[in-house]
Amino acid sequence: VRAVRRADGYYAQFLVDWDRKEEHEFQGKMTGIDLGLKEFYTDSDGNTVDNPRYLKKSERRLKSLQRRVSKKHVRGKKQSNRYHKVRKALAKQHLKVSRQREDKARKDALALVKSNDLIVYEDLKIRNMVKNHHLAKSISDASWYQFTQWLQYFAKVHGVIVIAVPPHNTTVDCSCCGVKVKKTLSNRTHKCNKCGTVLDRDHNAAKNILVKGFKLLAEYLNSTVGHTESGAKSSFIAGRN
Ligand SMILES: [Zn+2]
Repeated sequence: VRAVRRADGYYAQFLVDWDRKEEHEFQGKMTGIDLGLKEFYTDSDGNTVDNPRYLKKSERRLKSLQRRVSKKHVRGKKQSNRYHKVRKALAKQHLKVSRQREDKARKDALALVKSNDLIVYEDLKIRNMVKNHHLAKSISDASWYQFTQWLQYFAKVHGVIVIAVPPHNTTVDCSCCGVKVKKTLSNRTHKCNKCGTVLDRDHNAAKNILVKGFKLLAEYLNSTVGHTESGAKSSFIAGRN
């Protein structure tokens, strides 16, 4: 047990060591997901999951409070009561947004794990290393991270496979023929001159991500469990996350 202080009070946290297991209905379904700014994610079938309105509203309020705090801040002097009032409101709003985000990340991750047997996503740790001070961007980075953490947790609980692949070239490569199609950030559509494929940019990336996951899995299985007995093989795959 530990006591933690949050902007709205004190909490007692309990850490429980419990091996949670849930029954998973395997249906041979698989998906690759591309985490983005416009949509929360796009899957390899072209479906999108957007950020809900309540989150956008909370984030707008967060931004406006942030502006008010920096406006009221006076350098080198004792801060006014109004400043402290706004600063407290900002801290509470940060807490509210992070709780809403956490809740959404958990629900989205569980839904994805329940309806798939294999999920591939881009490992954004590499992208996160690039430090940025843009609020909207840092919020999404944090929520992507939370989402992938929950994804890994639920995959373990439900016994499905989740693979993280390195993020190189997933946007550039044509998911149909593999040729490189350069794009600017504003370029929302993937148009391949070689094979004629026209796809939404994120949908194309999600397809590449799924294929990358399979390649990684194949390499891994061939190198590690290819030499063991078939019984040991199946139990090893099921336990992988
Ligand atoms: Zn192509």
